[in-house]
Amino acid sequence: VCPVGALTELDHTNRLIKDLANPDKTVIVQTAPAVRAALGEEFGLPAGTSVTGKMVAALRKLGFAKVFDTDFAADLTIMEEGTELLGRLTAFLNGDKDVKLPIITSCCPGWVNFFEKQFPDLLDNPSSARSPQQMFGAIAKTYWAEKMGIKREDLIVVSVMPCLAKKFESERDEFRTNGDPDVNYSISTRELAALIKQTNINFMQLENEDFDAPLGESTGAAVIFGASGGVMEAALRTAYEVHTGKTLDNVNFEGVRGIENLKEATIDVDGFELKVAVAHSLGTARKLMNELRAGKSPYHAIEVMACPGGCIGGGGQPLHHGDSARIKARAKALYSEDTEKNFRKSHENPYIISLYEEFLGKPMSEKAHHLLHTCYFNRGKEIIEQ
Ligand code: SF4
Repeated sequence: VCPVGALTELDHTNRLIKDLANPDKTVIVQTAPAVRAALGEEFGLPAGTSVTGKMVAALRKLGFAKVFDTDFAADLTIMEEGTELLGRLTAFLNGDKDVKLPIITSCCPGWVNFFEKQFPDLLDNPSSARSPQQMFGAIAKTYWAEKMGIKREDLIVVSVMPCLAKKFESERDEFRTNGDPDVNYSISTRELAALIKQTNINFMQLENEDFDAPLGESTGAAVIFGASGGVMEAALRTAYEVHTGKTLDNVNFEGVRGIENLKEATIDVDGFELKVAVAHSLGTARKLMNELRAGKSPYHAIEVMACPGGCIGGGGQPLHHGDSARIKARAKALYSEDTEKNFRKSHENPYIISLYEEFLGKPMSEKAHHLLHTCYFNRGKEIIEQ
């Protein structure tokens, strides 16, 4: 927050109130995993209190036609990114010298913006998979809208994110169809809390409610996306089982959890030593990228999140001022929700399986590529030209 008020956050609350009151529009919402682990703090609950059910109930009361979960799209991200990882590894093991390793996660727009500006010579390393926010929008405005008989122009997709960079991401030209954005706009956890208070919804008295199907169903792997290391762990759960055909005895990859700025792990995948790294904060990411640029990166896969602790410490969350105890408590809430889920691996999500059977074909199919992948641009020139 700017101390002199010269900079203000882009606030979409008034736009949302207007859209919700428009009878000609169907307004649906998706909520990121980290939001449920922090929203309760705005209502006096201790850090680490998961308020998923109350959050869903509040969003319904606000008037959204459907309350969906970005976690559904996080499972989809793993299907696409995990397949991309396995594809690059297979090519590498077959002697392809040009294959781009390590593959680097691309679901954090703060990180994407950073590498486009600072490392434009390494744009082929990040996964081409879109972020869960954008995958959700693309699927909602095609597969789901067609199923429901809703015209694209009558559908408004709103996201609730722990993040301010997601507002920029939803406006990128790559995520539009004939000018119409896949995600119309994004509001932050703090904006949602303010809206709930403004509309006099008694949050603490709300009974828990469930997300709507089908885009509200998710696995434990998707829930942990909100914490640093969660995307890597989710990818490992799926990549291991898909590659080996074996069931993991233990899905908890403890080595990539925690709030250290850099975590490293080596995973035995049927005799192959898969080396991974997880970084949060752009300073640590810069070191890893400099190592890669110098041809000295020892890793096959890297996860980067820009914010402290990952999205649970995002800029749109209730303010935490770098309080690591609060970040740890939020992470604990997500890992606990993971253990309570019926399914804990993205490839076991029954609605994701149906989505591929009915609509996408298979991961990385032509249709999946068109709707769920993206490309990156050299924005370093913008710095030079300014
Ligand atoms: Fe946004 Fe921060 Fe999460 Fe990146 S880590 S997606 S910038 S909240």
